Amino acid sequence: MRNGLLVKYGEIAIRGKNRYIFEDKLIEAIENNIKDNSNYYVKKEQGRFLIANDVDDFDYDFIIPKVKIIMGIVAVCPCAILSNNDINSIKESSLEYIKNNYNKDKNYKFKVECKRSDKNYPLNSMEISSLVGEYLLENTQNLDVDIYNPDIKLFIELRTNTYIYSKIIKGFGGLPIGSSGKAMLLLSGGIDSPVAGFLMEKRGVEIEAVYFHSPPHTSERAKEKVIDLAKRLADFSGGVKLHIVPFTDLQVKLYERVPTEKLTIFLKRAMIKIADKLAKQNNCQAIVLGDSIGQVASQTMRSINAIDSASTSPIIRPLACFDKQEIIDLGRKIGTFDISIRPFEDCCTVFVAKHPETKPKRNIIETMESRIEWLDSMIDEAISNIESIEL
Ligand code: ATP
Ligand code: MG
Repeated sequence: MRNGLLVKYGEIAIRGKNRYIFEDKLIEAIENNIKDNSNYYVKKEQGRFLIANDVDDFDYDFIIPKVKIIMGIVAVCPCAILSNNDINSIKESSLEYIKNNYNKDKNYKFKVECKRSDKNYPLNSMEISSLVGEYLLENTQNLDVDIYNPDIKLFIELRTNTYIYSKIIKGFGGLPIGSSGKAMLLLSGGIDSPVAGFLMEKRGVEIEAVYFHSPPHTSERAKEKVIDLAKRLADFSGGVKLHIVPFTDLQVKLYERVPTEKLTIFLKRAMIKIADKLAKQNNCQAIVLGDSIGQVASQTMRSINAIDSASTSPIIRPLACFDKQEIIDLGRKIGTFDISIRPFEDCCTVFVAKHPETKPKRNIIETMESRIEWLDSMIDEAISNIESIEL
């Protein structure tokens, strides 16, 4: 009997003819997340994956946190693997599993639940469950049957191998990455945008991220923070490409050219124009922002209205209706918050006006923008100097 990890994924989400593509993508994401330890391999197993190794020790503390966070994974279950379907071996292994995983000095109520994929197997699921149950009762002092309210639900799955497990550790669920296309996320070093990226990933959208870097107004460490946030987003998906745009020249020129109270809107439109071009170059179908309605001046309904015409791609704001506290709570849960609160400024806080306009008029902004004769060429210049990294 060996140890392994059964991985359950949302089957409904990947029904149909693309099933194999999504299964392969999920496996790729798992392999990528566990590649630091080459002893482990992933195998498809009839609607599940099995992660196993050929050495004796299975390092659950290393594997579980890296696997359960991948989008599309519903649950992971540490299991005992039995390489045959023989009923006597199943009985003995079940007993061994209970002895290995539960305290013999404590009393437990238990129930056995069996599933078999081979319908020609001589015993049906109910028969296997009751045979194993009887065997456990006969060979232990601390177990009692309770099918309604058990402390231990012992699952036995007869597939290529037999799997025995009782612990189900929930994942985020959602849809497998890539099953819903791709989007370009504007990722700042703040609290909000990584959470917005996570929510897109949860719906199966592959994320590329773009960060606007303004040295010397923003430090190298601010950039490192964004890289760490992108790495965290990559943990949920198996990989994220991050584009770092040199933004200083454009920012300074806009600062000199437009009224201070309108600067944020112009900067944001410039970022979105760049993101839109990048999105097209990289086959992304939408742009994603971490905006939450009313949070700051550039996120009022009027500002949103004045900003969106900068893009030809649809703009999605997953956090539009979240309160700040809700965003923080989710950021904590997914491990981005602690990275976000490292104290390095992002570019907008350096160039921010004391009294930014909260009710910009879209047509006025558009007219003013159309008169900036160098804007398009500077946008192209910024794009041609992008540094892209795979995380
Ligand atoms: P966040 O916490 O995500 O930084 P915020 O509350 O600081 O958001 P803003 O600075 O107005 O709000 O930014 C709103 C959104 O614009 C961000 O969520 C992000 O999507 C995008 N954004 C802002 N600054 C940058 C930047 N330097 N690089 C990339 N995206 C940015
Ligand atoms: Mg910010």
